[in-house]
Amino acid sequence: MRAYKSKVVTPIRLPDREERETNLDRAGYNVFNLDSSDVFVDLLTDSGTGTMSDAQWAALMRGDEAYAGSESFDRLKSAVSDVMGFERVIPAHQGRGAENVLYGALVEDGDYVPNNTHFDTTRAHIANAGAEPVDCPLDGALAGDRDFAGNLDVAKVRDLADEVGAEKIPAVLVTITNNSLAGQPVSVENVREARAVADELDAVLVIDACRFAENAHFVREREAEFEGASVAEVAREQLSYADAIVMSGKKDGLVNIGGFVGLREDADALYERAHERAILFEGFTTYGGMAGRDVAAMAVGLREAVEDSYIRDRVEQVRRLGDLLADRDVPVHRPTGGHAVYVDAAAFLPEIPRAEFPGQALVCELYRGGGVRAVELGSFAFPDSNRPELVRLALPRRTYGADHLEHVAETFESVAERRDAGEISGLEITKEPEMAELRHFSAELRPMNE
Ligand SMILES: *Cc1c(COP(=O)(O)O)cnc(C)c1O
Repeated sequence: MRAYKSKVVTPIRLPDREERETNLDRAGYNVFNLDSSDVFVDLLTDSGTGTMSDAQWAALMRGDEAYAGSESFDRLKSAVSDVMGFERVIPAHQGRGAENVLYGALVEDGDYVPNNTHFDTTRAHIANAGAEPVDCPLDGALAGDRDFAGNLDVAKVRDLADEVGAEKIPAVLVTITNNSLAGQPVSVENVREARAVADELDAVLVIDACRFAENAHFVREREAEFEGASVAEVAREQLSYADAIVMSGKKDGLVNIGGFVGLREDADALYERAHERAILFEGFTTYGGMAGRDVAAMAVGLREAVEDSYIRDRVEQVRRLGDLLADRDVPVHRPTGGHAVYVDAAAFLPEIPRAEFPGQALVCELYRGGGVRAVELGSFAFPDSNRPELVRLALPRRTYGADHLEHVAETFESVAERRDAGEISGLEITKEPEMAELRHFSAELRPMNE
């Protein structure tokens, strides 16, 4: 049940089918090219797309726009300290800005950096710093029904150290929840193991805390030690093992833009290096590329994110969407993660070969069928990888209601009908940008049957 009501609304409109066909064609069968006003239920991402509370809007009005030493920054510092336990805070314009600041200060040419699974921007920043990002997920993480499928395989970190030498591993990373692995959670026990490995290697333990509150909810539900604990307590405990955090405020900061690095009081040398990079790339270190008002809103959002009533509703909503789809025989990954439902498009559209992008075909059908915007995370987004053909339906925070989820489920039904009638075709790329890694943002396609 939603523990809030709406006071500000944004009208949305479902264009008729003919319009949707035209829009899709004009967008080159790439939903990144659609106008949001032509989208009815927008599940493209949960990043920065959520709804702020009245308390956040009020904080916005009181934002302090001073270049240095703003009151809004003090509020952020207290919130990060109270909620996450880190005394030193370096704000950044968003998560990747924080990654650039921290990883550039931490990582050198020729290093190796293990992580349960690197999120795209993390991988890019580690590589940009000259190091090799190494994924260390559990074997067969998504096969079966694990409580903590997002965990780091610490044995793989030790193997890496044996292979390349501990001195080549300056940091061990843990991403909670594991965004690139269907948003699956990480246990507190696993973070303790990661801490032990980091100590063995004399490495810094960094937690990518983008979805720390959602993760804490799963811990409370599934890890026996934390039964009856509050989300706030679990979050504090889990983050207490890390030396540093990187945060995108666009996720569990409950804001539309912002991020930060959190460091320990005694991390002098690292703080100095990160501080310098922050001034170079983000802005003075009491605003870090954000307006003072956005800093103020994030300070409030962080506290709201660990309220039990909020986080329970959030995770339950994702679960409900997963159930609605599973009830209609849509192959979804279960248990669902914290922020999105992942659909196995290859299983849903078995007639479409991998070379014709079944995931992207499904994404286009969801728009055609019901004005729903999802995102492909399979062979179209990640060429030359052997990732499964996943389509992600990410739920913006505090934004849609049960009727919207029903609409999404009904849209899947209509797509299934077209599939059974043999009306869905694969796609071919007609225009591709030079950087193949980024092609899902801007490539254009066309249906094979036209
Ligand atoms: C979103 C995200 C980032 C990057 O944050 P941005 O605010 O999009 O720059 C980093 N790590 C993870 C796990 C994320 O989900």
